[in-house]
Amino acid sequence: MNVGQKGISSIAIIGGGTAGWMAAAVLAKALVAQGIAITVVESDTIGTVGVGEATIPPIRDMNTLLGIDEDAFVRATGATFKLGISFENWRARGHSYFHPFGRFGADIGSLPFHSYWQALRATDPASAGPLTSYSLTAMAAAAGKFCRPSPDPRNPLSNLSYAFHFDAGRYAQYLRSLAEAGGVVRREGRIVDVGMTDAGFIRDVMIESGKRVAADFFIDCSGFHGLLIEGAIKTGYEDWSQWLPCDSAIAMPTARAADPAPFTRSIAEEAGWQWRIPLQHRMGNGHVFASAFTTNDNAERVLRSSVTGVPLAEARLLRFTAGRRRKAWNKNVLAIGLAGGFLEPLESTSIHLVQSALTRLLALFPDRAFAPADIAYFNRATATEYERIRDFLIMHYHVTERDDTVFWRYVRTMTVPDTLAERLELYRSRGRFFPEALDLFLEPSWIAVMEGQGLRPTGVDPMAMAATDQLSALLPRMHQTISRTVERMPTHAAFIGQALTAK
Ligand SMILES: Cc1cc2nc3c(=O)[nH]c(=O)nc-3n(C[C@H](O)[C@H](O)[C@H](O)COP(=O)(O)OP(=O)(O)OC[C@H]3O[C@@H](n4cnc5c(N)ncnc54)[C@H](O)[C@@H]3O)c2cc1C
Repeated sequence: MNVGQKGISSIAIIGGGTAGWMAAAVLAKALVAQGIAITVVESDTIGTVGVGEATIPPIRDMNTLLGIDEDAFVRATGATFKLGISFENWRARGHSYFHPFGRFGADIGSLPFHSYWQALRATDPASAGPLTSYSLTAMAAAAGKFCRPSPDPRNPLSNLSYAFHFDAGRYAQYLRSLAEAGGVVRREGRIVDVGMTDAGFIRDVMIESGKRVAADFFIDCSGFHGLLIEGAIKTGYEDWSQWLPCDSAIAMPTARAADPAPFTRSIAEEAGWQWRIPLQHRMGNGHVFASAFTTNDNAERVLRSSVTGVPLAEARLLRFTAGRRRKAWNKNVLAIGLAGGFLEPLESTSIHLVQSALTRLLALFPDRAFAPADIAYFNRATATEYERIRDFLIMHYHVTERDDTVFWRYVRTMTVPDTLAERLELYRSRGRFFPEALDLFLEPSWIAVMEGQGLRPTGVDPMAMAATDQLSALLPRMHQTISRTVERMPTHAAFIGQALTAK
């Protein structure tokens, strides 16, 4: 550090939901040993949103970073394993497709696997079969099977990729125990006042008891309240509801009625969609909907009439606006979690956005000068990351054959962001897709959803067409290898049973 540069000596994390305790656990691991004091302020009376229960594979990197034993984690959080998402009624009523984690097929030549598959589909569709027949993850999900990937790259099981479904309350509790063991101090109480400096930085927050908590750096994890980032320093919000009009959800857990499936279900409805998230001990259910196109009562009726199992709690209504804070980091406040923005849980991305914000924070950890260039980079990268996910979500609604309700006619014909329109045109032309920096969802995910939603290229990559002679023999062999591997895998229920009894 340069002479005169002053380091951060204290951090206050405002909020103890999933975002707050994830931040506390990660920062405790990285910073407490350097003498930085970390405090979490949360209010039991305000409570948490408590519904984020489906994740994507990078969560396992977070577990590794925190030194978490996965079996212990599965036991403590009521977790099940997730291999992807089944999208039902999205392209058309009665149609379904699967968005699996991980890759399709194996390397063949210089082109991505899907180009060869498209070439074979154009010339010999019976041999090509569906794209998911080349995904070990999709095939395992369809068979209700699960095991962990093989570390041996020659083993087909090395292509298996997975995440978790877990109980949000137990997850926050689990992270809290790690964070407190790592030296984080928790303060209970509702924040009723915020102290500012003349330069507009946050100096401290006051809890209703009158006690003040001061810090050099504040992480706003106060959820939709945005207590500091919006309430105190008025950062502004970029509203994306013209593209993502769903602004409400009704959540209602039910008792477990069957063995948990190793995937999330997303079922399109007249003005939104429903989720089904299977846990060990219960089923998470919810109906995400656009209040401009249906009523709360109707949305609740749809949810209640389709769940299986006895309701375990009252149905709970949540409201939100798709979009992001204009600056995730403003002065000495960084907003993480729902305080930073919201993208509906269609692809289970919110918890991941917490994780990636924390990774970026550690790469750009400030001193008390809060260097503007570092903060500007953080904000630009965060905005791009959000926008790329936003485009992926919009695609689910926009690329559809559905036109049976006002909602579907709106999303199907709306003008989409240029960044998405370009990607769709590129695919429509010769079935090509190229990743961009800060893409969370890579080629296999985009292809799975574009194909699943019914987007068909009008042509095929000419270089792949030149290889079709070999493909008619090669691709069916790949599919057989995957099928045989899946046959030998244990069922998901049996695998969870092993994880629960492991000591
Ligand atoms: C319907 C729905 C479904 C979702 N599903 C998924 C999913 O499947 N997967 C996924 O990744 N994400 C999902 N999410 C998002 C996920 O729930 C959140 O990203 C995650 O829970 C983080 O929330 P949070 O910690 O930012 O906010 P919250 O859980 O709201 O926590 C806010 C905290 O701030 C505290 N607080 C607020 N105001 C004050 C105050 N004045 N004084 C003191 N404390 C205060 C509260 O007490 C609480 O501790 C979903 C969200 C919604 C709305």
